[in-house]
Amino acid sequence: MRNVIILGSGCAGNTAAVYAARANLKPLVVAGHEPGGQLSITTLVENFPGFPEGIQGPELVENIKKQAESFGAEYLHGTVTQADLSKRPFRLMVDDEWHETQTLIVATGASARWLGLPNEQKLIGHGVSSCATCDGFFYRDKKIMVIGGGDTAMEEANFLTRFGSEVALVHRREEFRASKIMVDRMKANPKIVPILNSVVEDVHGVEEGVVTGVTLRNLVTDEVTRRDVDGFFVAIGHIPNTRPFVGQLDLDADGYVVSHGGARTNITGVFHAGDVQDRIYRQAITAAGAGCMAAIEAERFLEAVGH
Ligand code: NDP
Repeated sequence: MRNVIILGSGCAGNTAAVYAARANLKPLVVAGHEPGGQLSITTLVENFPGFPEGIQGPELVENIKKQAESFGAEYLHGTVTQADLSKRPFRLMVDDEWHETQTLIVATGASARWLGLPNEQKLIGHGVSSCATCDGFFYRDKKIMVIGGGDTAMEEANFLTRFGSEVALVHRREEFRASKIMVDRMKANPKIVPILNSVVEDVHGVEEGVVTGVTLRNLVTDEVTRRDVDGFFVAIGHIPNTRPFVGQLDLDADGYVVSHGGARTNITGVFHAGDVQDRIYRQAITAAGAGCMAAIEAERFLEAVGH
């Protein structure tokens, strides 16, 4: 029986582990299918306070894990496949074994949706990115391409015009899914070149070790063209990792955990942290802050129930 089980080992989960371990709660962290979370697939992080020269994403998240372990947090490699949150202690199935806990912190994150192009995964961190705030800075005066037609794509394209010499916005249809105000703002930006009714067939640069260009197909004319780009930003949505909690935790229409104030969920004793609930900010520092909040709430809850 655990005091606290933390699901997820990204910035949110690891920071919750630091706080819970330091409060002597001996947390168990279930690392999940992408240990280290989104930071593990980024390169240089320049906006996490305290690192004036920046820090590599994988190193940052590993450091937080080491910090948690030094206070007594334990890590388990595995993924939760089933959860029974109907009563305390909560029960969680991790790789065919049930674990019991008095409190639970869900920090399972949201995975970026990718296009599934042959070279896409090979070039993540080398020109392919899913986060303009994280990586836009590296493309000063470079050619940038954004994929998507939703609010995220509009926002990222606009943001990236601060850096790039031009931003091509590729969308598979004629009409945008994004809200009118975001589309109007995008259209008014002279640096954005919309490319409609088009899909990317592949991204190039594996041999060079950095993105060099893409192959585009126009879905109306079937014309195939090649375009040079340096930065390739995929903005086609995220998938929150909440499948084991469907029907138990309050989730919104897209599957994100609904907050019931602070780090609380609809179930007393179950807390949320990071991108699994936050679809707006999605930053390492906000996830870390959320992890801290969840751990403090778990600690106070345990104290209140006299555990
Ligand atoms: P959305 O699901 O709204 O949009 C995804 C976009 O990606 C769509 O245009 C979709 O095309 C396109 N797409 C999906 N799969 C593919 C594919 N395989 N190939 C090519 N294109 C693809 O996701 P967002 O991340 O943009 O937004 C998520 C939510 O967050 C929304 O509710 C949004 O309003 C909100 N949000 C709000 C913001 C704000 O208000 N400031 C900022 C950012 C997000 P198609 O349209 O053809 O389906």
